[in-house]
Amino acid sequence: MSTIYLGTLAHLKANPFESAGALEIIESGALWVDEKGMIIDYGKRADILPRVPEAWIEDYDDAWLIPGLIDGHIHYPQYYATAAYGGQLLDWLVRSILPAETAFADPVFAEDAARRFIKQLLACGTTTAMVFGSQFSLANKALFNAAKESGIRLIAGATLMDSPAEGIPDILLQTPRQAQDDAEMLIKLCRNEPLLHYAITPRYALSCSVEMMRMCADLLKNHPETYLQTHINENRSEVETVLRHFKHCTDYLEVYESFGLLTGRTVLAHNIQASDGELARVAHAGCAVCHCPSSNLFLGSGLFPLARHVNHGIPVALGTDIGAGTSFSLWKNLSDAYKIQQLQGLSLDVAHLLYLATLGGAKALHLESETGSFAPGKSADFFALDFHQSDYLAERLHQCNSLEEQLFCLLHLATEREVEATFVSGSRATP
Ligand SMILES: [Zn+2]
Repeated sequence: MSTIYLGTLAHLKANPFESAGALEIIESGALWVDEKGMIIDYGKRADILPRVPEAWIEDYDDAWLIPGLIDGHIHYPQYYATAAYGGQLLDWLVRSILPAETAFADPVFAEDAARRFIKQLLACGTTTAMVFGSQFSLANKALFNAAKESGIRLIAGATLMDSPAEGIPDILLQTPRQAQDDAEMLIKLCRNEPLLHYAITPRYALSCSVEMMRMCADLLKNHPETYLQTHINENRSEVETVLRHFKHCTDYLEVYESFGLLTGRTVLAHNIQASDGELARVAHAGCAVCHCPSSNLFLGSGLFPLARHVNHGIPVALGTDIGAGTSFSLWKNLSDAYKIQQLQGLSLDVAHLLYLATLGGAKALHLESETGSFAPGKSADFFALDFHQSDYLAERLHQCNSLEEQLFCLLHLATEREVEATFVSGSRATP
C-alpha cells in the first residue's frame, strides 16, 4: 500500500545558483510514496489525496517536510572527539584527534560507536553521509553494517596514513598492502548493496607515502564505481608544510594531481586557501568540493570562497566535519554557512542554503537521481521539522510574512531537537 505524508513541503527543483524559482514550498502539501519507498508524486494535499483514496496517511500537520540532508564530510572515529580545546589544524590533530582515533582498535568499542554515530546522523535529519572511516578494518566493517541496518546512504572508506611523523601513534599507520586488502574487502561488500559505496580515503598529502598514493590511484582505476575523498587547502600553515614537503609541486592540488587522484568521483574537503589556478583545475577534473562551515570556524581555518567555487562551476556539498565541527546537524551548519558568506559580502538566500544541504550535495556526490529532492522516482528520504517543540520558535515564525521567511528563520533557529522523524526510502529511521 502506498503512503501519503502530509505537511509543508520544501525542496529544490533546480540549482538556484543557475536559475530563479528553483525553491518550491507547498503549504498543505502531500508526498505520495509507494510501498518500496519511492516517491510517486507530490503536490497540494487537495490534489493528491483524491487520487489515492486507499493510501495510508501520515499527517504531520503544519510541520515542514524536507529532503534528507546530505553530509559530505564527517569522521566516524572522531565521534567522541568533538569540542576538543585548543590549537589550529595540525596541533589539534596531534593533541586531540589522533589519540581519540586509536580507541577504534577495539572492535567492541567501535561497533557500539558505529551504531551511535549513524543514529545521531539520522536524528539530525541526515540520510546520506560521506564518511572518513577508521584505520581499523573491523571498525569499518561495523560502520558499514550499522549503515545497512539503518538504511542510511553511506559513502565511506578507511582513513589512510602510512607516513610516520611526530605525534602520530604507530597503531594508526597501515602498510599500502594491508590498506589495499582492507579496501578490496569492503568494495566487494558494497557491490551487492545499492546504498553503500566505498571511498578511497588518503587522509591528506602529508599522511601518505608515494607508495600509498600510488595504491590509491590503482584502486580508483581498478574500481571505477568507488569515490576518492581527501582534505586540501584547509589551513595556511598546513599548505606551507605540504609545499615544503613536496618541493616539486607549485601548489597543494598538484600533489594529488601528480598521483592521478583527481577524477569526477573525487570530493575535496575544505579548499579554503585555493588559488584561481587550482579552482580552474578542480573544475576541469570534474571534482566536487565539500565546505564545512562549523569546522572552519572552530579551527579558525578561514572563510570558504563559495562564490569563486560557484563561478568556476565546481559542485559544492556541505559537511559537518565532526570532530572539528561542533554539531552533527548539517541543518545547524547552514547558519554558519550563511555567516561565513556574510563576512565576505555575499548574502545567501534560503534557496541557496537549502540547496547546498540537499540537492546540491546530491549532485556533488552523483546521487541526484536517487535523493536530494521530492522529484518522482527518487527515494523517499526526508525529515519532518516540528517547530512547535520550542515556544519561541513558534512565536517567531508566527511573525513572518511568508513561508520563505519562515524557512529562513528555521535555518537559523531550528536544531536537531525539532527533527520529529527521519525517513530513509520511505521507512521511519528514528524512534
Ligand atoms: Zn575532515
